[in-house]
Amino acid sequence: MDDCIFCRIARGELPARLVYENEQVIAFDDISPQAPVHVLIVPRTHHESLGDGVDAELAAALLLAIPVVAEAAGVTRSGYRVIINTGPDSRQSVSHLHIHVLGGKPMSHRMLRFGDEAETTR
Ligand code: AMP
Repeated sequence: MDDCIFCRIARGELPARLVYENEQVIAFDDISPQAPVHVLIVPRTHHESLGDGVDAELAAALLLAIPVVAEAAGVTRSGYRVIINTGPDSRQSVSHLHIHVLGGKPMSHRMLRFGDEAETTR
């Protein structure tokens, strides 16, 4: 996709702090980190979500990049949380599949919080 931010990062057209890359995926620091470690793993090819034409080989490449990124970021032993926002209710804001890897400090026991009435989009 010509104007997709993550496609452009994958093509080297936009700057990013790379954490890891291989033939299928690229991982870079989130521009607006929500934790001391906040890395995004994205496929080089454009897919909006896991349900958008991601084959088993690419799915495996994305999953297997997670522990590699965790190791590179120094959070293998301390632990980390992995999130894939998908679609409007999740508040996915970039329509190119990406895996958030978050860590570097203890997180809440609560997995998530729902937005209040004023925040909901429907
Ligand atoms: P999501 O809300 O799951 O779609 O997450 C999109 C993420 O992409 C957000 O955490 C943004 O901070 C991050 N993001 C947006 N633009 C960039 C960029 N140019 N470089 C790195 N991260 C970005």
